[in-house]
Amino acid sequence: MGIHKKSKFEVNIMKQAGNIVALVHAAMKDTIKEGVTTFELDELARKIIKENKAEPTFLGYHGFPFTICASLNEQVVHGFPSKETVLKNGDIISIDIGATYKGFVGDSAWTYPVGEISEEKKMLLKATEEALFAGLEHMKHHDRLENVAGNIEDVAKKYNLGIVRQYGGHGVGREMHEDPFVFNYRTNNPLVLEKGMTIAIEPMLNLGCDDVYVLDDGWTVVTQDKKPSAHFEHTVHVTEDGPEILTKLL
Ligand code: MG
Ligand code: MG
Repeated sequence: MGIHKKSKFEVNIMKQAGNIVALVHAAMKDTIKEGVTTFELDELARKIIKENKAEPTFLGYHGFPFTICASLNEQVVHGFPSKETVLKNGDIISIDIGATYKGFVGDSAWTYPVGEISEEKKMLLKATEEALFAGLEHMKHHDRLENVAGNIEDVAKKYNLGIVRQYGGHGVGREMHEDPFVFNYRTNNPLVLEKGMTIAIEPMLNLGCDDVYVLDDGWTVVTQDKKPSAHFEHTVHVTEDGPEILTKLL
């Protein structure tokens, strides 16, 4: 496939797509509380994306039936929003959002606490966010993707967290998933980053072991040991001056 580097013009459109994703995240943050269903969050997300003249990227992607992925507690990624999933105090909920604007994709995920959460869940959220930003430090021209992965791995190890192995970041642009794939741990990846690359960085860290599996719905990824998992993701543009976050939260 090869890596598609973007022109300034294309990056500007991606920034607009990213802004729409950030708008949806702001609404999620305001809305997530005890008693809300993840189905309501899905409807709200779709409404905001449509109002901003964009399309929900995930809806219909390989048959995915919703606008957002809503992954509760031990669910890692790709959870289905549901009228039966009523948020309760102490839950954590990972919301992954994609919006396509003028043919370009913005992709960002965040894990939110519901009410008051346990100390270990607080640590998991803090550590996974820290891993994301530690990885982003190396998203600059002529740095190496291996250093992004290494920084994420080091933060996970510092907090003694499991690292999801089967899923990771990815190039993003006209397609949601472009080259390169981004592991969240060292793999001796020789890839040198170049300005114009746009890549989604997305650590998924677990309070327990690394292992995950897919539920019978064919989508929802859960931890093998049923311990909680967190997911933080930004779409990022590689520049000579460092990372330009295209999905920056509002
Ligand atoms: Mg995503
Ligand atoms: Mg992604």
